[in-house]
Amino acid sequence: MKKGLLIILSGPSGVGKGTVRQELFKDESLNLSYSISMTTRKPRPGEVDGVDYFFVEEDDFKERIHNDELLEYAQFVGNYYGTPKFHVDELLEQGKNVVLEIEVQGALQVMKKCQDALTIFLVPPSFEELERRIRGRRTESEDVVKERLDKASKEIATKDEYKYVVENDDVLAAKDAIAKIIRNHV
Ligand code: 5GP
Repeated sequence: MKKGLLIILSGPSGVGKGTVRQELFKDESLNLSYSISMTTRKPRPGEVDGVDYFFVEEDDFKERIHNDELLEYAQFVGNYYGTPKFHVDELLEQGKNVVLEIEVQGALQVMKKCQDALTIFLVPPSFEELERRIRGRRTESEDVVKERLDKASKEIATKDEYKYVVENDDVLAAKDAIAKIIRNHV
């Protein structure tokens, strides 16, 4: 069976990666599977362990780094985030196109290891709009919001490392643009 495509969907916090991803997953013809990440961040209201993330303690995360169980990992605004290797390999072998929704440092690690990966960076229509979206989430303190905004401008500066840059002005338009890119690669 033909191996699946590894797809990295990246972009600054608040750009709407999760929403665009959900729209993409409604299109069954794209044959997508989501790689559930591991994090030491505490769950936000409504987030479910094993669905949104595998929520773990820092000791557990560090042990997995030590045992080389992660395809990539990064520290982001005080927490660890990483992609468990085993699940990704298994899904690719099954011919699934696997989506990693990850931040920039992790994406750069995967690009080095898997040069065939399809890499897509989502940008906001403007920085003001990004700030509005991050503040609109209302689940984080002012300090964390500021840190995420500062991080976002640094992340946007790396967009040229990606094969494709897609603007998320309208969710469905961004979804259509990405679906087209995926179809051209499978
Ligand atoms: P959040 O706390 O908002 O869920 O995620 C913070 C950032 O970490 C987002 O940009 C998100 O895409 C990214 N992220 C989520 N999972 C992973 C992962 O497994 N690895 C890396 N490197 N980043 C991740």
